[in-house]
Amino acid sequence: MLDKRVIDKEDLRALLSPVDDVFLEEMAERAYREHMKFFGKSILLYTPLYLANYCVNQCVYCGYNVKNDIKRHQLGLDQVEAEAKAIYETGLRHILILTGESERHTPVDYILSAVKVLKKFFSSIAIEIYPLSQTDYERMIQAGVDSLTIYQEVYDRKRYSQVHPYGPKSDYDFRFLAPERAAEAGMFHINIGALLGLHDLTEEVYQLACHVKDLQDRYPEVTFSVSVPRIRPFEGQTFESVEVSDRMLVQIILALKIYLPTIGITLSTRESKSFRNHMLPFVSKMSAGVKTTVGGHSDEAASDVQFDIADERSVDEMMKDLKVLGYQPVLKDWLNIS
Ligand code: SF4
Repeated sequence: MLDKRVIDKEDLRALLSPVDDVFLEEMAERAYREHMKFFGKSILLYTPLYLANYCVNQCVYCGYNVKNDIKRHQLGLDQVEAEAKAIYETGLRHILILTGESERHTPVDYILSAVKVLKKFFSSIAIEIYPLSQTDYERMIQAGVDSLTIYQEVYDRKRYSQVHPYGPKSDYDFRFLAPERAAEAGMFHINIGALLGLHDLTEEVYQLACHVKDLQDRYPEVTFSVSVPRIRPFEGQTFESVEVSDRMLVQIILALKIYLPTIGITLSTRESKSFRNHMLPFVSKMSAGVKTTVGGHSDEAASDVQFDIADERSVDEMMKDLKVLGYQPVLKDWLNIS
């Protein structure tokens, strides 16, 4: 099957089923060839900036959930600027801003004001916030946002209800259709994903791949990427997650690259330095210099962390490591001139 020119959904199921080491090696060879065709040996670097950690949802897998008694904080615009300056000095020009879901603490107008500040420093601004209406995505784009990251977290509807028992995030469809609304609004780049460890792995990755394929077919003018984060330990964790071994995650990434060759893969600091280094031949985007606290780039003690990270390399360290391994670190991939 690996010598077929076009891999279909049935093939994808086979690629996600248990395979032996020889077949996994053959998958790696095909995935590498496909990846090099479209991305070459370059890795786009970015970092997340947490604007606030107030949240009204009760996602059972997240340290910021409303039931957790943690230090909450929201950046004032002067603090946003301080964070921006600290990140700018590292050389990064792509930024991802995050909030919890609280329209009271982080309304759309507040996020737009933060984007206005960040525009002075960065060529590309991505948002990872609560799902918006098409009109609000249009406002974000007008303000200078070019990319959206939004994970369905879990595609299985029953499991989705179990892990999102309370709050607006329990509306499966509103979240599922957010990438479509953003594409209709004119978003340049959309990154979707599933949080691995919440449900059956094969089925979740299959659904994720079908979701992005459908979006790609309907919105050819938009560029897409996927993330496959594994659950990381967090303050107050109370549930058992499904095991996702390194080998399984490798197979998932290879299967996605073979089925969707033009799609970028983003690998965050949830994964270790060693794992991320090994996966460079299949990945196009990585975070660096990461702080999962609100205000953590300019103030070490700003808030509690959302989750523990596994790769604590600074931007400088990441750049050095990438060069030693024969990859080109990209700090500024493009300029949003709209
Ligand atoms: S995952 Fe997002 S929406 Fe859910 S509790 Fe955490 S911050 Fe809130």
